[in-house]
Amino acid sequence: MALRLIQGGRASDGLPGLLVEHAAEVVTMAGGMRTGARMDDPALLAAPGGDAGHETAPAVACWEGRIVAAGPHDELLRALDGSGYPIARFARLDAAGGTVTPGLIDPHTHLLFAGTREAELVLRQRGADYLEILQAGGGILSTVAATRAASEEQLADHGRRWLTEMLSHGTTTVEAKSGYGLDLPTELRLLEVAHRLGKEGPVDVVPTWLGAHAVAPEFRARPDGTEAYVRYLIEEQLPGVVAQGRARFADVFCERGVFSPEQARRILAAAARLGLPSRLHADELAPSGGAELAAELGAMSADHLAAPSPAGIDALAAAAGAGRPVVAVVLPATTWFLMHEEVAPARTFIDRGIPVALATDFNPGTSPTPSLPLVMTVACLSLKLTPSEALAAVTINAAAALGLAEDVGSIEGGRQADLAVWAVPSHRQIPYWPAADLVRAVVKRGKVVLERAPA
Ligand SMILES: [Zn+2]
Repeated sequence: MALRLIQGGRASDGLPGLLVEHAAEVVTMAGGMRTGARMDDPALLAAPGGDAGHETAPAVACWEGRIVAAGPHDELLRALDGSGYPIARFARLDAAGGTVTPGLIDPHTHLLFAGTREAELVLRQRGADYLEILQAGGGILSTVAATRAASEEQLADHGRRWLTEMLSHGTTTVEAKSGYGLDLPTELRLLEVAHRLGKEGPVDVVPTWLGAHAVAPEFRARPDGTEAYVRYLIEEQLPGVVAQGRARFADVFCERGVFSPEQARRILAAAARLGLPSRLHADELAPSGGAELAAELGAMSADHLAAPSPAGIDALAAAAGAGRPVVAVVLPATTWFLMHEEVAPARTFIDRGIPVALATDFNPGTSPTPSLPLVMTVACLSLKLTPSEALAAVTINAAAALGLAEDVGSIEGGRQADLAVWAVPSHRQIPYWPAADLVRAVVKRGKVVLERAPA
């Protein structure tokens, strides 16, 4: 299929309205963040017998960037015309018997970096692990060196390229962490570029400060290096980041051998006092107290969770039960790419009422994929999520992980009109065709920003 990116968005032919019609299925994800058995309920509108030309086949109406309503085609048109939305003022987008979903949301990426690390794939095949590569001065520190040397324009060009790639896989909102600078000027540059790319659009970008991604190289030779870096983060880097005003969240890599729960608590508490809600890289490689800390702090999300302790799972379940849910952002492409056998116990999370989201973890070392549909496939195969659960995890639950569930992640009246149109008749086929280009069109804020001609 020929991919056409539409500069600035097709302004719905100058019209305020957009009607997406002739869908076999519209997945609304209406009704808010999902937990437990509700994760498997995508709140579908389906055409009778799959006939997308039927008068009751589902359609979605958007007006000036927001969703007005979704419902049976002819009934929706009559309701619009009778409610001050003249049908003549709607451009039409033909879903051509495909599936319409909310635009996908990627709630954990390291979008901005310089350099690549393909050599580590071969090192890992020979048995080297993440911390061994790190201690040898490779891994994240090689990315830090390349990123510090990159200009704002180089980082922006890189970001644009990969945001376009993400958009072509249906993603309309992306969280982007700093954390490859580890010094104040580079961290500020990364956050500024993330903010700027979101302003440019069409993909919304949510910047997160991750100064505590690793101990900066200039602190590593010192015997008290980690502790000195933590003090530097709290006393110098964080105030600079807050003064800049671009970061929306603070994140810490809480892991044995990186930052302890006690250090993470101090950094995140200081950030919270300055208005930045918490997220956590928690228990990626070993039970490290990260899940427990995320529950204690009331973090927005606890991410990775490939190796949580039983007490950590209990803490997340208790927080969810008490109405203070911490979203478990699970990153199965990372464990897959690292060839790790231990994966996040996502089925246990769902059984225990913990909301689950999925993300790419897009980064140059451990998960270089920009594709959420591929992540959905891996989640179905390695975590045993159902296709409907996987889709909830990259739409409404991913929105909840970013505090955006009132605005994006579902197709409901009043929500931002972010939609993906897929060239398959059921959402269950999205993870079923791994690495196929299934996106037929993407709508962002009511404008068609990407369109592929049917094959
Ligand atoms: Zn990460």
